[in-house]
Amino acid sequence: MRAVKIFAQDDLRVVDMQKPTAGPGEVLVQVKSVGVCASDVHYYAEGRIGDAVVTEPLVIGHEFAGVIAEVGPGVTNVKPGDRVAVEPGIHCGTCDMCEEGYLNLCRNMRFCGTPPFDGSMREFMAWPSHLVEKVPDSMTMDEAAMLEPLAVGVYAVEIAGDISGKTVCVLGAGAIGLSMMQAAKAAGCAQAFVTDKFPFRLDLAKKLGADQTFDASDPDLVAKVKQATGGRGPDIVFEASGENEAVCQAGEMVRPAGTVVIGGIPSDDLMSMPASTVRRKQVRIQMLRRSNKALRKSIELVADGKIDVASFVTHRFGIEQAEEAFITTRDHKDVSIRVVVEM
Ligand SMILES: [Zn+2]
Ligand SMILES: [Zn+2]
Repeated sequence: MRAVKIFAQDDLRVVDMQKPTAGPGEVLVQVKSVGVCASDVHYYAEGRIGDAVVTEPLVIGHEFAGVIAEVGPGVTNVKPGDRVAVEPGIHCGTCDMCEEGYLNLCRNMRFCGTPPFDGSMREFMAWPSHLVEKVPDSMTMDEAAMLEPLAVGVYAVEIAGDISGKTVCVLGAGAIGLSMMQAAKAAGCAQAFVTDKFPFRLDLAKKLGADQTFDASDPDLVAKVKQATGGRGPDIVFEASGENEAVCQAGEMVRPAGTVVIGGIPSDDLMSMPASTVRRKQVRIQMLRRSNKALRKSIELVADGKIDVASFVTHRFGIEQAEEAFITTRDHKDVSIRVVVEM
């Protein structure tokens, strides 16, 4: 079978690989659609995210959906032919973090497409059956692959605290930012604002329900967002751009005693904001790590028509053109939101 591997920084190859089989408690998923995440692009463009470094060829990819091809001994929740979305992290279930319910912070996490664990950009993948969820027939495989970034947005809203009736601002209108915005609306926020540098993304944010959008490169951005809240500042700001400038904007615009949720991944692995600004306002800063038990809820939100993830997919490439998919994402070529690789 074919697989997309990152060998080192700027070295991506489509290679042959042995087809796996489903062991006890596992399913063999025939992968259909894989989203290219900004985090995948960090491994391609920089060869690392912080201290996670590509030292051995790594099958990349973690946003994926497919069809069950085989089930191993003991599997009862799915059968061959079922269309599934996949939880990309294998948690141990026994460490202190798992016991506290933080499956996303498992100390023994094996996360798909993160060194040294191979990811999903390949034709077949063996995976624990309890980490796959059936999706309705009405859902396309591209939509099902987008449930992974959506789950991150759903979880971000969960850890932001009580959001109903609140004013929210999301910085960055990529798939994660648009997931946060839609999840915040679905959870009953009063108003959701979105900022981005690309007009195309702001248009999509509006289409998906943003109440107001702002050009992130406007030097008066913070003042304009504050003005839109009657001078008070948004109650909750979600950072989803990975730009330190946006981290600073978040701290500046949030209201006193407000919350900033930081989900972006900075390229230089550093993050800073003026201490006086956030200290004087006693801002609550909440970091976000992937998602936790949010896949089923994400499926329901899409199936019920409350959230649109189909619009995230702006570009499609075949597996042999995988590098083009990464370059398109890296360079924001043709103003992409999510690029998918179809197997
Ligand atoms: Zn991702
Ligand atoms: Zn664990």
